[in-house]
Amino acid sequence: MISIQQIQFTYPDGPFSLEIPQLAVETAESVAIVGPSGSGKTTLLNIVAGILTVRQGTVQVGGTTVTQLNDSARRLFRLQNIGLVFQDFQLLDYLDVRNNVLLPCRIHPKVRLTTALRQRADELLTAVGLMPLASRSVTRLSQGERQRVALCRALLLSPQVVLADEPTGNLDPVNAQKIVELLLSEAKRSNATLMMVTHDHTLLSRFDRVIPFEQFLRRTTPAQETVR
Ligand code: ADP
Ligand code: MG
Repeated sequence: MISIQQIQFTYPDGPFSLEIPQLAVETAESVAIVGPSGSGKTTLLNIVAGILTVRQGTVQVGGTTVTQLNDSARRLFRLQNIGLVFQDFQLLDYLDVRNNVLLPCRIHPKVRLTTALRQRADELLTAVGLMPLASRSVTRLSQGERQRVALCRALLLSPQVVLADEPTGNLDPVNAQKIVELLLSEAKRSNATLMMVTHDHTLLSRFDRVIPFEQFLRRTTPAQETVR
């Protein structure tokens, strides 16, 4: 489960600040986060993932208090427990589709690249309709295809927590539905907690709960509208 208590965050440069008094997501719960652009949704996912660190407050993921870990322990914790679908994908341009999906095993200190994991990568690619492109450079993909590669990579090691930042933002409605079903079924299969940011209100009914981000804005400086 994810538990946030009294966190306060600011970027070193820029006026944005985020304060969340309390937020809890249960183990195996699926939540959708909705809210205006620039309100701090991506910032929150990065805080939960331990990529950004808060100035004050506590973030717990599973039994671990992420806010007490040093940089290297946080990185290891993230590799072992969290699958993050970045809003900007963060694929490696010099790797093909399959090897981008397999990336977590290359950077994880304890996971070996086994035949089973290669099969898992190919199964995920098949599920998102990208198997025909498995050997293609990711530089030769559409945005929607890149987004699906990022999703497969996040799910590869069946993480306990899946954080997905607008993972359907570049997809047509049919593919968007497919991706959300895959996220939900993968989360269910591994009893994982799923936190997904979305602007697509047609997808919300599929989640256990919807968290409107507006509730956290009262106490923050007005966020500037970001155009993405
Ligand atoms: P959302 O995902 O809800 O659109 P973000 O979390 O990306 O919002 O951004 C929240 C605010 O923080 C915005 O005003 C944005 O301009 C600002 N911001 C985002 N990243 C940085 C950064 N690296 N440095 C300074 N300000 C940032
Ligand atoms: Mg965002």
